[in-house]
Amino acid sequence: MSRVAQEFLDLYGYPPEGVWAAPGRVNLIGEHTDYNDGFALPFALPHRTEVAVARRADATLGFHSADVPSGVVALDLAALDPAHPPRGRDGWAAYPAGVVWALVDAGFPVGGVDLHVRSDLPTGAGLSSSAALEVATALALAELHELPLTRPEVAALARRAENAYVGVPCGVMDQLASACATDGHALRLDTRSLEQRHIPFDCAVAGLRLLVVDTRVKHDLADGTYAERRATCHRAAHSLGLPALRDLPYEDLDRALAGLADPSTRGRVRHVVTENARVLRVEELLRAGRLRETGPPLTEGHASLRDDYEVSCPELDLAVATANSAGAYGSRMTGGGFGGSALTLIDADAEAEVTRAVTEAFARAGFTPPRVTRAVPSAGMSRVL
Ligand code: ADP
Ligand code: MG
Repeated sequence: MSRVAQEFLDLYGYPPEGVWAAPGRVNLIGEHTDYNDGFALPFALPHRTEVAVARRADATLGFHSADVPSGVVALDLAALDPAHPPRGRDGWAAYPAGVVWALVDAGFPVGGVDLHVRSDLPTGAGLSSSAALEVATALALAELHELPLTRPEVAALARRAENAYVGVPCGVMDQLASACATDGHALRLDTRSLEQRHIPFDCAVAGLRLLVVDTRVKHDLADGTYAERRATCHRAAHSLGLPALRDLPYEDLDRALAGLADPSTRGRVRHVVTENARVLRVEELLRAGRLRETGPPLTEGHASLRDDYEVSCPELDLAVATANSAGAYGSRMTGGGFGGSALTLIDADAEAEVTRAVTEAFARAGFTPPRVTRAVPSAGMSRVL
């Protein structure tokens, strides 16, 4: 029996019906584009969240996580209300509860369940532990109740849980990456049409490696800054007479910027439009097998997030600058920003040097020691037991 299944048995006194897993993700390029109907290019990590689940005869929901010291959070399915999600110490249970709520709200006949979670993803590190938890839970419930949901539909349900129940107005990129990614590929997403392209992305054959630097600075997307960026983008699109910033062609950017009075709005618009162009550029380079050349657009993407979108932080900027000085082809923050992780593309034999340089730079700056791990494009959600 797997560890998470054994823990379920110890906790609830009976075995789970199965174990399901969903990964975290790193976004290679295409940040803050998904709520602008734009493009993104994430890949799934080998790090994943597992849920052991069994159906109950009654309408009680039991949620427990090995990663949070809250004990079992017991909720009444019939009383789930997006206006009153669990908060405080039990706040994490809003993620799986939100999935149950979203399924019920979509008309699916879901009953009570017991659920136990264990993850090797750091939470709040910009690697999307939230989507991993939602997607693993949604997949488990869909399979246990034999619901005919496709992978993108599981992702959409998971996103609805986070938007409408947890209260985080995230786009759909994280959930799509966790649900739909495939081993050895990046997932090129059109977040308007939901078209997916699986682009081969094998760093090892090119003698390259991707490292993730977790700055250990916790971001908090629910704190309003994310919602504010999102609202600014939607207002700007409206004032330009466009459905979304996705519809502003790169060639028309300067003309559009000249018509916007507010300098910070100009920066937000410039980021989104140039970032969409960078996704298409990086996709082209990956398809051509020119992996090293993806470095400069990654670093340009970081500068754009730092200067135009203003969602970076000193730790992320230091990780990027130091990795690049130590020989990386390119680096950028990944995820929503204000902390979390940076991604860096390096020669495989530069791993020790880049790790040392970043670790020493953090020590000199008086920052918390960063956690550096390898990122290998991996498969999306699956049943594991
Ligand atoms: P990220 O998705 O980048 O990791 P978020 O702030 O979006 O950061 O989501 C992190 C939150 O998701 C945690 O604070 C917790 O509430 C919940 N969460 C994620 N993984 C787990 C887990 N394994 N156990 C319990 N809660 C989790
Ligand atoms: Mg998240």
